[in-house]
Amino acid sequence: MFQRPQALSVLGLPVHIMTSYPKWLLECLQNKRGIHVVTLNAEMSIQAERNSSLAGVIQNADLVIPDGAGVVLYLRWLLGKKVNRCPGIELAEELLQEVGQQNTAIEVFFYGGAPGVAANAAQYWQQQLPDLRIVGTHSGYHTTEEEEKLQQTLAKIQPQVIFVGLGVPRQELWIAKNRLLCPQAVWIGVGGSFDIWSGIKTRAPRWLGNNNLEWLYRLYKEPWRWRRMLALPEFALKASVYRFKTKDVNPTIN
Ligand code: UDP
Repeated sequence: MFQRPQALSVLGLPVHIMTSYPKWLLECLQNKRGIHVVTLNAEMSIQAERNSSLAGVIQNADLVIPDGAGVVLYLRWLLGKKVNRCPGIELAEELLQEVGQQNTAIEVFFYGGAPGVAANAAQYWQQQLPDLRIVGTHSGYHTTEEEEKLQQTLAKIQPQVIFVGLGVPRQELWIAKNRLLCPQAVWIGVGGSFDIWSGIKTRAPRWLGNNNLEWLYRLYKEPWRWRRMLALPEFALKASVYRFKTKDVNPTIN
């Protein structure tokens, strides 16, 4: 029943296209199927070219969603696929809405961000969804001893949904290394989502996101990101070269 969905190739990395990602995640939860979800954008694709561990983790992830505008434009323009962007933060929010409203016994854990940020994000969600069961939070800055304690806690309480917000590639590598602590959980790398939910950062206005320009807003708000964002033109160039070198107009991976 649970085959890995078929993947399209973006610079040799998989991207899974589905009509409803939250529905698939809920099915995994119902069937106690542990999965790792990666939210792929252009920046991560370029990092994966230089970091073979990250590339390996993405290749082995159970679900890779098209988080970034570059990935979506690649799929639309170069492969002719009708694909909509699915930002990781929105998928995480939809999942929380589902597990919080259904009054299921599903338990959630937030890990990552500066001290207090995950706890504030949890408080925000608890106010939105009083039935949501957030069973723990942990900051993303800690000693090795604290990390060991966190690992023991996760192994003991077995939350079924675990959001890890440590940034790329730290969160992907951490999940790959630790996911067997909770083998039945849905693990998602959520980047800076706790910063947004806790109110210390804001997301781009919706119209910018709808026009694939969220990256421009981030650059405006966090200009120090300019060096990291050089990955975007590099991705565009590599994508074009890769596409025109590849004869198959519809490359799939499985
Ligand atoms: N972070 C963390 N531990 C670290 C480094 C980063 O918890 O050792 C957190 C940081 O506080 C922020 C998130 O990871 O909340 C990274 O957010 P960003 O928006 O940079 O994510 P990305 O763009 O990599 O998805």
